[in-house]
Amino acid sequence: MMPLLAETTYRVFGDLVTPGVSLLWFLGAFGLWLGIRLIKDRLDRSRIADYVEQGGGSVVRIAWNPLGRGWFGERGDRIYEVTYRTRKGKTVTATCKTSMFSGVYWTGGPAPSVEPPPESIQCLSCGTSIPESRERCPKCGWSYEQRETKRHDA
Ligand SMILES: [Zn+2]
Repeated sequence: MMPLLAETTYRVFGDLVTPGVSLLWFLGAFGLWLGIRLIKDRLDRSRIADYVEQGGGSVVRIAWNPLGRGWFGERGDRIYEVTYRTRKGKTVTATCKTSMFSGVYWTGGPAPSVEPPPESIQCLSCGTSIPESRERCPKCGWSYEQRETKRHDA
């Protein structure tokens, strides 16, 4: 006897289940995929922001663009359209590809500079270069803030 076509059976790991259970499994799998996608998206964005910021720029907007330039090819890479402000204050839009393992590479538009900002301050007291994020000389504790107070008084 031929089985009826309408009598579709649903199986999860070989066990016969009702259509409702299989729907739940499907939704669960979809939710998991979406969750992973969102986590990857967040990682991608912070990776791109790191890239832009290491050259002294700042990110204005990152938009996922699945069909951006360079979409054909590596499937594991995701493409984003990145608008960023350069160190010199210019706003630029470029396209980049990124994934967990390949880093960030730029397929269209001007890629942000990767050179660190040149303005590292030198300690006027002992000559050690002070990182921009620090307010005081790591060696002797000298602070350039005093200089700014003087300028304010003049
Ligand atoms: Zn110093």
